[in-house]
Amino acid sequence: EVSNQTPGTPRSTREWQAADSAHFLHPFTDHQALAAKGARVITRGEGIYVWDSEGHRILDAMSGLWCVNVGYGQPALEDAALRQMRTLPFYNAFFQTTTPPAVMLAERLAGIAPGFKHVFFSSSGSEANDTNIRLVRRYWDLMGQPQRQVIISRRNAYHGSTLAAASLGGMPAMHAQGGLPIPGIVHIEQPHDWAHREGAARGLTRDDFGRLAASWLEDKILELGSETVAAFIAEPVQGAGGVIVPADTYWPEVQRICERHGVLLISDEVICGFGRTGQWWGSQTFGSRPDLMTFAKGITSGYVPLGGVMVGERVAQVLIERGGEFEHGYTYSGHPVACAVALANLDLIEQLGLVQRVREDTGPWLARQLATLQDHPIVGGVQSCGLMAAVQLSREPRTGAAFDPAHAIGMVCRRHCFDHGLVMRAVGDRMIVAPPLVITREQIDEMMGLVRQALDRTWEEARASGWV
Ligand code: PMP
Repeated sequence: EVSNQTPGTPRSTREWQAADSAHFLHPFTDHQALAAKGARVITRGEGIYVWDSEGHRILDAMSGLWCVNVGYGQPALEDAALRQMRTLPFYNAFFQTTTPPAVMLAERLAGIAPGFKHVFFSSSGSEANDTNIRLVRRYWDLMGQPQRQVIISRRNAYHGSTLAAASLGGMPAMHAQGGLPIPGIVHIEQPHDWAHREGAARGLTRDDFGRLAASWLEDKILELGSETVAAFIAEPVQGAGGVIVPADTYWPEVQRICERHGVLLISDEVICGFGRTGQWWGSQTFGSRPDLMTFAKGITSGYVPLGGVMVGERVAQVLIERGGEFEHGYTYSGHPVACAVALANLDLIEQLGLVQRVREDTGPWLARQLATLQDHPIVGGVQSCGLMAAVQLSREPRTGAAFDPAHAIGMVCRRHCFDHGLVMRAVGDRMIVAPPLVITREQIDEMMGLVRQALDRTWEEARASGWV
């Protein structure tokens, strides 16, 4: 079958796949395995759906990669890009020059990020987190405390894939390739009650475990000596780590610990920012007041690359008043087309009332629908925050027993999802959804119907294989 949705010469799926594996090294991919199988070719999107080159409609419950928050095919974003491309497709911001879209976006972001007046732009979340490292170290230099170098992060965190961002992240498989982490970055345990259910969390209430997990930050600060610690970085809800929603007690305690020891707090809002949790920022949902916030993805709904760091006044004022030149930046810092698309995207989020809708309507609706999975024979638990959710698979929900990792049950479930026209992500044995914020209640019901079917098929396969 020939796909005629794509510009250029129409090609069959097989032809796309052959050219793909001949030339395109995909990110986070076993290239040999992909070449043997052939990539799924996505050719078109509309609303919460994408279509592949075989004409299958797929409900995109992952918003592309946690980013297409306003859904596919929004003319306002397309028009904004085209208009800006025709007016001024690029100009730099290095040499005492600026462009109207970058100025307007910076001003606009200051309006939606309480307590923040300044922003540093990048093109991705990884670059923004690299910026964070340089910013906080520069801040402490300027403060006359150059020994404050260490940044504390968490195991199983995801902060990006550059050398520095991957070091901030806490993914062992990433650290194993290329000798990471870089010096000056240390990790503490995550506030993941399921992962700690047979250890630190045993016998504790969720709230008590939240306080305990926060105390690990203070233990680490004291172990290192607070005079050596520059910052703590964390995602409000760990996303790529498996949608790990901390107890309500966690973030307020982290905030108090950072304040007590003068440590800067960086909230990585790359996934949680722009409405995903039902507020503009995840830190608002969880009650922290970060000094810096990383953003990317949802700022443009993924239509074009853009990221950056919201820089709070504590840091910004030191940089501005004592600074001299900050030797850091990217060709595309403040890219006018990306900024124009971001402005149109923020307008649309406001016009559609998406943040409030997630908080008051679709988020609670998703939580209710998820709760109906609790008694499914392979569901050990469900968790959600706004429109991000996880379904924990378990061989024996009553005891919380895990599947044998060799059976890769998450991948089995993901295959059944694809077969039913649903994109759901597997993080180990946790199945993840984070649908576009434009999703309606009816579409959530449709999504949950597909999720249930995939879980049923997974259970049947597990039973037939003798894994349960
Ligand atoms: N931080 C978080 C919390 C993320 O989820 C991601 C991407 N998934 C990043 C940083 C890195 O962003 P990018 O892929 O745009 O570099």
